[in-house]
Amino acid sequence: MPWRALPGQVADPYAVWLSEIMLQQTTVTTVMPYYERFLKCYPTVQVLAAAPQQEVLALWAGLGYYSRARNLHACAQKLAQLGGFPSDVEGLQALPGIGAYTARAIAAIAFGVPVVPVDGNVERITSRLHAIEEPLPAARRQLDRLATLLNDDPQAREAPSDFAQALFDLGAGLCTPRRPSCLMCPWRATCKAYATGAPQRFPVRRRARQSRNDMVSSL
Ligand code: SF4
Repeated sequence: MPWRALPGQVADPYAVWLSEIMLQQTTVTTVMPYYERFLKCYPTVQVLAAAPQQEVLALWAGLGYYSRARNLHACAQKLAQLGGFPSDVEGLQALPGIGAYTARAIAAIAFGVPVVPVDGNVERITSRLHAIEEPLPAARRQLDRLATLLNDDPQAREAPSDFAQALFDLGAGLCTPRRPSCLMCPWRATCKAYATGAPQRFPVRRRARQSRNDMVSSL
């Protein structure tokens, strides 16, 4: 993926931010040509900040959720005022259009802060590692807390950028919603959902539990 730094390179916060905003609610394949067009037109955050908003929205056309494009432009203007990206989660999260997940992703990938960005994939991995029976969405707070501990390991904390991106890859490629490839997973030995024999059952969703209760009560 073009926004990822190669081994030995330092990730560019502008590239990480742009890709993370574009990837919300859509796929890598869809984002790729938009990302490349944006970087060609706006090679730096300062150039993006100076562009007219209508031009930015026109370049975004087709990617949907136009509030993201407006926030992207507002954020670029704020960053141009600040003189660059803050390197901590709190500073990033104070910027327009940057929520908790994106702030942690930029902090970990671009600035090496040992934090875990928690999106749907990471939530699913966490629910499986701990075989959390509490259904979503009620389990969300517990999952977020447990997910922040996923990097509680010296090797992971030494390489926050690699760890965050490996976690994304594990969620997208191995710990998939319907058919997780557990035999290839480095966490198989300690994964509680794998031990149950039905890891795809996690995360438990409220509707599934309700329908089971309905079945029991109708017996
Ligand atoms: S062992 Fe399977 S269910 Fe557990 S984290 Fe790995 S891929 Fe996911």
